[in-house]
This record gives sequence, C-alpha cells and structure tokens, in this order.
Amino acid sequence: MKKSINILFAVAEAAPFAKVGGLGDVAGALPEALNKLDEFNFDVRIFMPFHARVHEYDPDRRKIGNFNFSLMSGDTLECELFIAQIGSTKVYLIDNEYINHNSPIYHGDWRLDGLKYVSFSLMVLEASKFIDWKPDILHCNDWHTALAINALDQHYANDSFFKETRTVLSIHNLPYNGWGSQEAMSQLGFSPSTDPDLPDWAKFTPLPMGIAATDLVIAVSPGYSKEIQTPEYGCGLENYLSKHSDKVMGILNGLDIDSYNPETDEIISHSFSSDRLYQRLMNKLHLQSTLGLEVGHQIPLMTMVSRLSHQKGIDLLLDSLEQILHLPWQFVLLGTGDPELEERANNFAKSHPEKFVALLKYDENTARQLYASGDIFTMPSRYEPCGLSQMIAMRYGNIPVASATGGLKNSIFDYSDGLDTATGFLSHQFSVGDFSQTLAKALSLFTDKVIWTQIQRNAMAQDFSWHHSAITYAQAYLNLINPDIPENKTLIDEA
Ligand code: ADP
Repeated sequence: MKKSINILFAVAEAAPFAKVGGLGDVAGALPEALNKLDEFNFDVRIFMPFHARVHEYDPDRRKIGNFNFSLMSGDTLECELFIAQIGSTKVYLIDNEYINHNSPIYHGDWRLDGLKYVSFSLMVLEASKFIDWKPDILHCNDWHTALAINALDQHYANDSFFKETRTVLSIHNLPYNGWGSQEAMSQLGFSPSTDPDLPDWAKFTPLPMGIAATDLVIAVSPGYSKEIQTPEYGCGLENYLSKHSDKVMGILNGLDIDSYNPETDEIISHSFSSDRLYQRLMNKLHLQSTLGLEVGHQIPLMTMVSRLSHQKGIDLLLDSLEQILHLPWQFVLLGTGDPELEERANNFAKSHPEKFVALLKYDENTARQLYASGDIFTMPSRYEPCGLSQMIAMRYGNIPVASATGGLKNSIFDYSDGLDTATGFLSHQFSVGDFSQTLAKALSLFTDKVIWTQIQRNAMAQDFSWHHSAITYAQAYLNLINPDIPENKTLIDEA
C-alpha cells in the first residue's frame, strides 16, 4: 500500500468540540475534506488543546498516555494525551497545567493565553514524537500555534524525527498576532527570531515568528492574501509579506455543506430548498412570533450573527440603521463580545423595540434559525479574511449585504454586476452613507418577488463545499513535499 502523507493540523479550536468563530468551522471541516480526497493518500490529524469546552462537549475519547519533556528553559512540562474523532478524522486532545479546566478557549488575559498557547505549540511537536507519527507537513493556524513552526526551525532543527517535515501557516486573522505573550515565551525558553526582514517588534511576537520560519503562508482567501501585503491591512508586516510574496498564497475557505444544509438541518423549524422557498418563509414567521416582533412576510427581516468586535463594524451598522429608520424593516442581531458594543446594541434595541432585537449570547441553534429566517444578512466588516457567515447565509437563502473586502469580495457576486449572477450586495466604501444606501437598495429590491427569488436561488446554488479548496490545499502540500515536480505533470498524478 502507498505510504500515506501525514499532515499534522495544529489548531486552537475545532467544531463541534470547541468553536468561537470561523477558525473552529475550518478546523472541523478541512481535515475531513482532505482525508476524503480519494486521489491523494492523506492522513490528516487534528491536534488541539483539551479545553474546558471540550470537556463540556464530552466527546468519546480514549486516553493514550502521559508524557513529559524538557522546555528550552530547562523546566519539565507534564502532558496528558487523549484521542477522539471528528467524523473519520483523528483528533488528539492535549492537556497540561496551563490548559485550565475552568477557563474559556481564549482568556483575553495575555499572560494566561500566552502560557496556554505557547506551551501548546511545543506540546504539539512532542505529542507527535510520543505517538511516533512523523508529520510530512506541520500545518499551523494563527498565532496560537505559529510558534510550533518557529520551534521546529530553531530548537528542533537537528532532530532527525522532523527532518522531512515541511511547514504551512494559515492566517485566519492577521491583527491577532499573539502580542502580549512575550512573558510566556521567555518563561518557556523561546528566543527572538533573527530574520533581518522582520520589524523589531515582530521578532519576538508569535505570529510573525511563525511567518518568518514557515515554508508557506496561506491566507484564507485570495483577496486577503493580497490585502495583507498592503499598509492598510498588513499590520506592520506588509513589507515582510510583499518581499516574501513567493511564499504567500490565498485559498478561500469552504463550508461544511452537510452540516449547513437547509434541506436536512434539524435545528430550524422548517426545512426547505430553493424550490420550496414558501417553506423557508415559515421559519421567518415563527422567529418573528417567538421574538415578539410584528408577524408578516412582507416586512423585510435583516439579521447578523457575529462576534461583536471592532472588526465586524457593528458601530457602522447601527449608525446606518439610524439613517433608514423611516423604511419598514426588522433586525435581529445575535452576537457577543466587546462589552461596549454589546451596550450600544442593547441601547439601540431599547430605543427601537419594534424594529431591533439584540440577542447577546453565543448560541449555535439560534444562529441557524437566523440564517434560515432572515431575508438580508449584514456584514459591514472593516476587514474580513474570509468570512464563513456570509456563505452559510447564502446557503440558507439569506442575502448578504456586506463590505467589499477580503473574502467577502471573493464569495459574493454583487447585484450591480447583473441579476443573472447576483448573490448579494457589496458596499464599496466603509462609510455610514454607503452602507445605509446599500441596505436601502436591498430593502427596495426585496419588494420585487421575482428579482428577490432569483437572487435567493443564485445564492443557494453556489458551491461552497470544501472540495475545491481542499484540492488546492492538497496541491500546495505536495508542492512543498516534492518541489521538483516537472511542470508538465499534474500534482494529482504524482500523489
Ligand atoms: P470570524 O471567524 O471572524 O468570527 P466567520 O464569519 O468566519 O467570522 O465565522 C463566524 C462563525 O461563528 C460562523 O459559523 C457563525 O455562525 C459563528 N458565530 C459567530 N457568532 C456567533 C454567535 N453569537 N452564536 C453562534 N454562532 C456564532
């Protein structure tokens, strides 16, 4: 039998075990999609922390054993290793004293997050040695695991176990670079990167240290891979990334289309398809009634499901809604995060109770009900590396009105380019004036059922499955493992 290609997928969260945002969706679906590619022989395994949230989820798991190792500082770290499964993909759950069982996935306290993820980055490497499973590719995600790549390059450079290992670092969100974990890095024995191309501040910051050491950087959309090479989105790393653009690429995320399927989703009150949109309407009427809003199919229902962070533009949204209060609409927001933004949303709801409902919580079931009920899904993001919410919304016939940035530009076809292809509405300037006008345009077209139904059908017909993206990842892996592949041979032939 052909030897498998081992991919160690290191990540902070993976749905359904533990999810905060899109990173969890990606980690829960991409490894499985790669394992299912028959033409390749991948063995992709997820390595993640055994968070309190995973304990709560309580997956079937088996303890593999305890191991310890010496940190670069000379101290010893004791670890516990478990194995579970997401679909048919193996998931290693790693525990140690810093993965506190009363804590959230991300503390928001840099000292604690630093210790948790800096130690996790090392444990990933040691766990693969413990189970004697040599990775051909170490694929890390965001700052939380980026230091595994730095450690491989610096501290494990002479370790024959990793001699053949090539590295990939996915950037899901560049501004979250791990700044603040310096104390933890020093405590665990890391030293600054010596790459002269990195700016000084970045030499001892996890994500840039990983970027400097990795063989390949993958941004989560082609649009974002270009944006991060500009001063506006590059967070101070634009010069580094453009100088090293030969190792930067973008691959659009996909969706778990089996999980997010309006025809089979058991959470929503009425399942539907693009041929049975009248059944979709029942979800909207049900939601309006449950939330105490006026019930009526003709009232446009706008929705948003999001982390409430500055990135997501909730401030711009509320200001835009102020501008169109004279129009008929209702809005349901589901989100949690920044307390100031939560308060603003709450105040808006108090001022306009007949129009605006703020559900300030994280709740997967409510999220699905909103995707299935809303007419319009808003994403006024300041930047959006990929964005999965707009893809889920389109799959459920909920039409996005979004900023023309990053992955939103790559996944939404703007109405202004023609009804035949339209799947949503893009606002090209990040301003209250432009976003409120784009909302108003969508609201007015909603009253034309022929046009609206066409946009809904276009959106629902999009193929957001992981399959295409997984093939692009597969080719990127193979290029790293075998860079000398002849130009006239396809990589799939070689696999
Ligand atoms: P990001 O990763 O930046 O948070 P994405 O659009 O890529 O944004 O992914 C967000 C994911 O998190 C989607 O699956 C969305 O449905 C989910 N999500 C965000 N906020 C909530 C919430 N309050 N309750 C339930 N799901 C949420």
